[in-house]
Amino acid sequence: LTHGALVETLQELALLDHHVHGAISVPLDRDEFEHVITESDRPRRAGCSNFDTQIGLAIRKWCAPALGLEAFVSPDEYVARRLELGPRAVNEALLRGAHLGGLLIDTGFATGTLLDVNQMADVSRAPAWEIVRLEAVAERVITHCNASTFADHVRAALSEAAAAGAKGTKSIAAYRYGLDVPQARPSEAEVAAAAGTWLHEIDSTGQNRVSHPVLLSFLMWSAVDLALPLQFHVGYGDSDIRLLRANPALLTDFMVATQESGCDVMLLHCYPYHREAAYLAQMFPHVFFDIGEAINYSGLQSIQIVRESLEIAPFYKQLYSSDGWGPAELHFLGAQLWRNAMAEVLSQWVDRDECTLADARRFATLIGRDNAAAVYGVEPR
Ligand SMILES: [Zn+2]
Repeated sequence: LTHGALVETLQELALLDHHVHGAISVPLDRDEFEHVITESDRPRRAGCSNFDTQIGLAIRKWCAPALGLEAFVSPDEYVARRLELGPRAVNEALLRGAHLGGLLIDTGFATGTLLDVNQMADVSRAPAWEIVRLEAVAERVITHCNASTFADHVRAALSEAAAAGAKGTKSIAAYRYGLDVPQARPSEAEVAAAAGTWLHEIDSTGQNRVSHPVLLSFLMWSAVDLALPLQFHVGYGDSDIRLLRANPALLTDFMVATQESGCDVMLLHCYPYHREAAYLAQMFPHVFFDIGEAINYSGLQSIQIVRESLEIAPFYKQLYSSDGWGPAELHFLGAQLWRNAMAEVLSQWVDRDECTLADARRFATLIGRDNAAAVYGVEPR
């Protein structure tokens, strides 16, 4: 009875997805689809299928019915149905099926085949706002400035993005170096010297990928000055990460240094460091976290990750995210699996008389929507 009531509450709750990317706008054949339902970009092991994973199972269980198929159809039938419907209809079915109140979209890893902010709002029928990726800003401005003007160009570009309506920034220092970048604010001279080193590197390699630890730190501090929420990629992610150096505990000195700054810090994904993230969220009033992405890739076992996310972090410090990127199955499943897990965990609390139904509903609403609305200052539908 309690479980049913909570399932209903969670279905009615239009989630605010605070970390998400565009959905893919081109058709995918079986091989292409298998390639985008894993975080690994290495070739699959010969003779193996990515449908034989938690996410593959969850797609057949939950996404197949959303596309008008029986649950547990074969992978070939599933991919054939996707192709038959076409990208627009697939994206509408899955993004509307996710029942979102709003999306905060990381536009930094955009390709020509992903829907942009306005297209995502249109397809999902929910308001969408931009989150600016700091490293993408640096890589854009470095093409038209020199070492000594780099810092000012970055600051101007960030102010411009904020004025144009961006609701936050995101650092991928974890991908480019590690979260053990210099935690204190670098001096202007240090930034200019590092920018000079980077410009030499661009000259000799022809690539403008920013990875200098001083520059990554400078970008973080420029975001702090902007006073919009600052997101960090933490833990689980693409295959180029060094997992040990993506532990959010490495940011502790940065948290101490920014606690009075007025800038809120959002730790994204976090798995398998969601307990470290929850600890930081309890210790620091300006730190929040989510467990997005791990939910999709742990499928039906995501119940235990959701349970762990509710251990020591205050209920007002966790946010919902799907980290959907590419196939809209990820945007849909993030929402579906999170709702399933929250209903399961919270109904146990209520059934054991450790929590009232009203409290359970309130905690779900805080995490699914209200915490993010407050911290980003946005109004979900
Ligand atoms: Zn992401």
